[in-house]
Amino acid sequence: MVRAQRVGEVQVFSFDVDGTLVGPGFADSVWLRGIPAAYAEKEGLSFEAAFEHIKREYDQIGENRIEWYKIDYWLKRFGLEIPCEKLFNEYKGEIRIYEEVEGVLNVLKEEGYELIISSNAATEFIEFQTKPLKKFFSRVFSATSDFREVKKSDDYYARVCELLGVKPQAVVHTGDHWVFDFLNPRKIGINAYYLARNRRRSRADEKSTNSEGVKAKEEDEFVISDLNELLDSPVC
Ligand SMILES: [Mg+2]
Repeated sequence: MVRAQRVGEVQVFSFDVDGTLVGPGFADSVWLRGIPAAYAEKEGLSFEAAFEHIKREYDQIGENRIEWYKIDYWLKRFGLEIPCEKLFNEYKGEIRIYEEVEGVLNVLKEEGYELIISSNAATEFIEFQTKPLKKFFSRVFSATSDFREVKKSDDYYARVCELLGVKPQAVVHTGDHWVFDFLNPRKIGINAYYLARNRRRSRADEKSTNSEGVKAKEEDEFVISDLNELLDSPVC
């Protein structure tokens, strides 16, 4: 389906990272295995005891504070002298780029779109995990590292557009968080797609017999289950 009025307007495709380009395995391993293991070794504790301690400390800070996202902060707080790069290398086998990603980025790039990353993760996590995809992206924006924002707000997206020198209407953003990747970018006019990789059955199908079904169906147009669907989307 191609909507003539939109063709030619879109210049930029933006992607979230965790859950969108890569699976969550690597980040989870670094935070929940690597750091507790290093702490256990330093303190002479069992892994379980170290894990409990580390987890309590994480929870005490919580995801609404900027420190939560900063690995250097945590390494220092736990007195760990292990360089972040070494820790990352230990778990690089856990990085899983979803299988359709490279093909889709290739097509978009060849069609002349500018591709960018818009993630909540700290820059070092983004860059390490997306190394094999580096050639596709012209810019990498981290809400936490670049803007000191803990979530991708509508203001965050407005700043990204400003830095790119494009109107929100010229941007397509895709990510797997309903609020931070879908509702917030839509607030300022970005064409956002919600990626639901585990979706079995669309909400439109479930509700198609009642009046809500119409609304769900419209919304469903912007819910995709893998990135290939972007290539058939009205904006492409
Ligand atoms: Mg995500």
